[in-house]
Amino acid sequence: MQSKNKRAIVTGGTRGIGKAIVKELASKSCCGVLFSDVAFIYNSCDECAAEIEKEIGSLDTKIIGFKADATSLEDAQETVNAAIEKLGGVDILINNAGITRDNLLLRMSEKEWDDVINVNLKSVFNYTKAVIKHMVSQRYGRIVNIASVVGLIGNAGQANYAASKAGIIGFTKSVAREVASRNITVNCVAPGFIETDMTRNLNDKQRELLLQNIPMKRMGNPEDIARVVGFLCSPDADYITGQVIAVDGGMTM
Ligand code: NAP
Repeated sequence: MQSKNKRAIVTGGTRGIGKAIVKELASKSCCGVLFSDVAFIYNSCDECAAEIEKEIGSLDTKIIGFKADATSLEDAQETVNAAIEKLGGVDILINNAGITRDNLLLRMSEKEWDDVINVNLKSVFNYTKAVIKHMVSQRYGRIVNIASVVGLIGNAGQANYAASKAGIIGFTKSVAREVASRNITVNCVAPGFIETDMTRNLNDKQRELLLQNIPMKRMGNPEDIARVVGFLCSPDADYITGQVIAVDGGMTM
């Protein structure tokens, strides 16, 4: 039984899947007896961050928001240092921050490519690099990277996004091999189509087409993803590393 809280950092924790992950890690049920104090990173919405601190934080669990651009290595290092100071260490990292800038390759601008690669992929390098020394020296760490089924099967109009998510999968497997002997696991969760701000703009026709490819005939919700992330951070998953778990209602079976 763990006697003290684990300490987690979650990037992109103010909305959608990230917010559900913050809640899951802070909740008693995610890992049996394990509670997590959570530092979450966000980019823009100060009010959202304050609301989450108030809504999820409790006497038992510290929830602290840090405003930082996840694309900057320097910011990541500063933020991780500040989070470690507030929480007393770091045991869990969830790389979740992500954006889309969809376009067919014929029309895709260099900025659309760079923005997506920087937020989705470089941020994973930044935060993993910033925590890994601490995890190696304490010989414990749980890292979960949020990829996408699009990184596995591709999607027309999302070459930038698919490349960033496939990159996360390769990164995950490589780092998992580097740090496995130090009791650090590194895994990916690959969501299918999940109801969040990211997918809110799909029109009825796009939704209908999507549902045709989902055997379970529904989009997922952020909690469907958060529960699997909670599992990967729990002692039940201590012997799982380098894996990609698709949570997609059967889309990619
Ligand atoms: P979302 O609702 O749009 O939330 C994105 C989060 O990322 C927000 O908290 C946002 O912070 C943060 N963020 C964006 N740019 C950032 C930056 N430069 N620095 C720091 N934080 C930044 O997205 P979501 O749907 O929950 O997606 C979360 C993750 O799941 C992403 O990696 C996404 O690619 C992946 N995913 C989503 C789906 C889906 O269907 N929704 C499917 C597969 C994979 P602010 O609020 O401050 O902007």
